[in-house]
Amino acid sequence: MNVLMVCSEFAPWAKTGGLADAVTGLGNALVARGHDVRVLLPRYAHLPGTGATLRPLRAGRHRFGELQTAAGDRAGPRVYLLELDELTADSIYTADSRDAGRFLRLAFAALELPAALNWRPDILHCHDWHAALTPVLNRAAPVAPTVLTLHNVGYQGVFAASVLEQYAPPRLRRAIAADALAGDDVNFLRAGVHAADVVTTVSPTYAAEIRTPEFGMGLEDVLNARGAALVGILNGVDYDLWDPRSDPFLALHFDATNLAPKRQLKSALAARLGLQADATTPLVGIVTRLAAQKGIDLVTAILPALLRETRATFAVLGSGDVALASALAGFAREQPRRVSFTDGYDEAFAHLIFAASDLTLVPSRYEPCGLTQMYALRYGTIPVVRATGGLADTIEHFDPATGTGNGGVFRDADAGGLLWGLRTALGWFDDRAAWSRLVANAMAADFSWRHQVPHYERLYRTLL
Ligand code: ADP
Repeated sequence: MNVLMVCSEFAPWAKTGGLADAVTGLGNALVARGHDVRVLLPRYAHLPGTGATLRPLRAGRHRFGELQTAAGDRAGPRVYLLELDELTADSIYTADSRDAGRFLRLAFAALELPAALNWRPDILHCHDWHAALTPVLNRAAPVAPTVLTLHNVGYQGVFAASVLEQYAPPRLRRAIAADALAGDDVNFLRAGVHAADVVTTVSPTYAAEIRTPEFGMGLEDVLNARGAALVGILNGVDYDLWDPRSDPFLALHFDATNLAPKRQLKSALAARLGLQADATTPLVGIVTRLAAQKGIDLVTAILPALLRETRATFAVLGSGDVALASALAGFAREQPRRVSFTDGYDEAFAHLIFAASDLTLVPSRYEPCGLTQMYALRYGTIPVVRATGGLADTIEHFDPATGTGNGGVFRDADAGGLLWGLRTALGWFDDRAAWSRLVANAMAADFSWRHQVPHYERLYRTLL
């Protein structure tokens, strides 16, 4: 099948989080299955970046560049970048009304790119609000059936309605407004949910949750109205990029039969961060956006109790909310042997934290799929997660009596819930036999894209 992916992020070229990993992983896996997948995203100012060039292309009113990388790259989708001219920005998101203009243009351009390539897509696969107007425009002049995947319903692309006058061609303003207007605002995602032939989201549990007011973020009405046309398909992991046996970001490699290098990585990381560490000191690593969604405020709420009552040490890497960052930095200043906080986004360091830690925490208030818990599993790092969305679909609470389960799961997104979850897991850590079993279970879990891609293939086929 010919599939055009329309999105704002694609790894490693443009990534702020799990969206990039998910689109890239799905795209690569579809290509590996023999499909012709092409990806369209905006040309941000930092692109093409080192190691790549652009081959120019023109279609209708739009100019594109095809990304050309050095030979020997892994086979993946062909990537096209849309020129945004005066709307080109340094960052992937500007978080102001320019985003409306940039992603409106992306939605139009997606319908023109196929003609420029002399290539007919069977499916237009759009991701998140940034591409959500493509299904709306496609309905007016169909190019191919549309799939809209919701990676996070918390981000909807809501702007003052005046952005339509500012950025949308007059003939299309009304078509967009019919779906997108909500009060005085336009809501890109709401419009896309209405218009797409099929709407998917990134885990079965999240697909059920977003039909309710607690998780639907105001879209529960349109999401419910889609009935069976809203489906949940779990994201996969690209184990070529996340593999402790070959990870290029690691100085030492390991697998389930030889964990000694993992222990050495832990000692080295602790030394580098100035943390106290030995075999009996559990190291809890956290890699996260600092946003309310992720529940990191719950971590800061229970840290005093944990530092008092347990031997656990914490290595946190995160960026985002300034108040959370300063709270974490405060703990690191007061207890430098127990808590380390790195404010920033660092791919290499993220890999090292997942490899070197004993546990990771994902106390999300909601989590469409979540990738970090799956990455941690592969590195024998035990996730302690809240039972929501994809976390509920991937982590099963360990039972030391039967030896089943791959992590710790707590129910309530509050300090008490998280404290219970982490204390329970620290109890397992102190029981060497139980812990070995748990780590073996974690490393044996297989969430590769290989298993998930057939779900998308079946879905695409129903639309042909
Ligand atoms: P979300 O997309 O909501 O942020 P996911 O768990 O789906 O959450 O994906 C997060 C991705 O971003 C993972 O690849 C994770 O390693 C990465 N990530 C998050 N924060 C950082 C950071 N500060 N530095 C490096 N990588 C990060």
